[in-house]
Amino acid sequence: MAEEIMQTILDRDPNEREFHQAVGEVVESVKPVLDQNPVYRKLRILERLVEPERVILFRVPWMDDRGEVNVNRGYRVEMSSAIGPYKGGLRFHPSVTLSILKFLAFEQVFKNALTTLPMGGGKGGSDFDPKGKSDNEVMRFCQSFMSELFRHIGSNTDVPAGDIGVGAREIGFLFGMYKKLRNEFTGVLTGKSLNWGGSLIRPEATGYGSVYFAAEMLATRNETLEGKTCLVSGSGNVAQFTAEKLIELGAKVVTLSDSSGCIYDEAGIDAKKLAYVKLLKNVRRGRMEEYADKYPDAVYTPVDPSLDFNPLWNHKGDCAFPSATQNEINAVDAKHLVENGVTLVCEGANMPTVPDGIDLFLDSGILYGPGKAANAGGVSVSGLEMTQNSMRLSWTREEVDNRLKMIMKSIHHTCLDAAEQYGFPGNYLHGANIAGFVKVVDSMIDQGLV
Ligand code: NDP
Repeated sequence: MAEEIMQTILDRDPNEREFHQAVGEVVESVKPVLDQNPVYRKLRILERLVEPERVILFRVPWMDDRGEVNVNRGYRVEMSSAIGPYKGGLRFHPSVTLSILKFLAFEQVFKNALTTLPMGGGKGGSDFDPKGKSDNEVMRFCQSFMSELFRHIGSNTDVPAGDIGVGAREIGFLFGMYKKLRNEFTGVLTGKSLNWGGSLIRPEATGYGSVYFAAEMLATRNETLEGKTCLVSGSGNVAQFTAEKLIELGAKVVTLSDSSGCIYDEAGIDAKKLAYVKLLKNVRRGRMEEYADKYPDAVYTPVDPSLDFNPLWNHKGDCAFPSATQNEINAVDAKHLVENGVTLVCEGANMPTVPDGIDLFLDSGILYGPGKAANAGGVSVSGLEMTQNSMRLSWTREEVDNRLKMIMKSIHHTCLDAAEQYGFPGNYLHGANIAGFVKVVDSMIDQGLV
């Protein structure tokens, strides 16, 4: 049946490479679950799960500062509402396609199920590139995007958030337009600013959560992060707060990157240097290259398309935190990481490691935390933001952070328990896929053929 499903999606949408990759991974994990539960086969659960409940595709026309008209494509993939309203981020990046959003929405379904909170899965976005655009251009784009999206979302229907290219600025413009069109102030987006309904710790949540998950994995080997050398990729939201928590716990962060290149700072990126990175990326919207101008002991390596590997992953280290984008660790990078002594890989990004790389990590006994478990802290605190909005109150930083820690601990246990139960002891990847799958499909069965 697993093979049939893969053939069906390959025949139906032959060009959706990223989606095939994400489905293939889950299908592989849940084979023993299907064998032990014939009812899932009889009710064609997998066939239903791989087809989005709804896909919305729309035109986004907007005017740039020169007065010229531009047209982008907008999407929302509403994948599954089995356990709650659709929930998942919006990505604005030129590489966005339906395949990428379907893979992200599919992953989101299982991730959200692991969080213990009542959230279904979705994802959306546009091929719009915010890089190099003025604030006014970004605002006009967001307003145009929302002028269509607003009729499909709502606090009990579909609750988008941020992702690559969608941070506090974009969420603000999107929320403002939604509020105007609907004439209501609701928690329809998460990742809002604190003054108007946001949650403390939401900006930090994905990065902090990833580090909490890594600490739980290390604890199974009686180790901690203190003194560990860590390779972190990206320099956006997830990378910044992953680095912040690692520094706080006594680890040494030696790398960061953006899509133009990476920096290696052997002495370690300390809190002061990280504050500079935040200013550079969040306020000045500059490039990582400038880090090496500011701190000349650091080495900047620009992206070289002729290389078949990313130099960032070719440094000595103990732990790796890929926190930029999908498939950023290829098979050669994975080999470099193993050769350089890395013993833990914790995915802040979604699907950052290619399947051959994952196999190598698992075969080499590396502690491997898959994105759908390790980066679930972001959507978890989004869920807590929804709860606070419904109750019309705000929890303290400590309260949200403690809940985040508890959720990451619980996800860690859930993965290990499910993996053990189905014969994959210590395998977080199979554990995450199986635990998320069982919760979602049992809910689908309870709700009948809809
Ligand atoms: P940001 O837009 O804040 O940062 C993304 C970072 O990754 C930037 O440094 C960007 O560089 C780099 N990057 C993006 N695309 C590429 C590429 N094709 N090649 C190399 N580098 C690239 O996004 P986030 O930090 O929010 O997201 C990072 C990852 O984490 C994504 O996979 C996202 O899906 C995942 N994630 C995010 C969550 C969140 O709460 N924000 C929650 C769960 C997962 P540049 O500036 O040059 O574009």
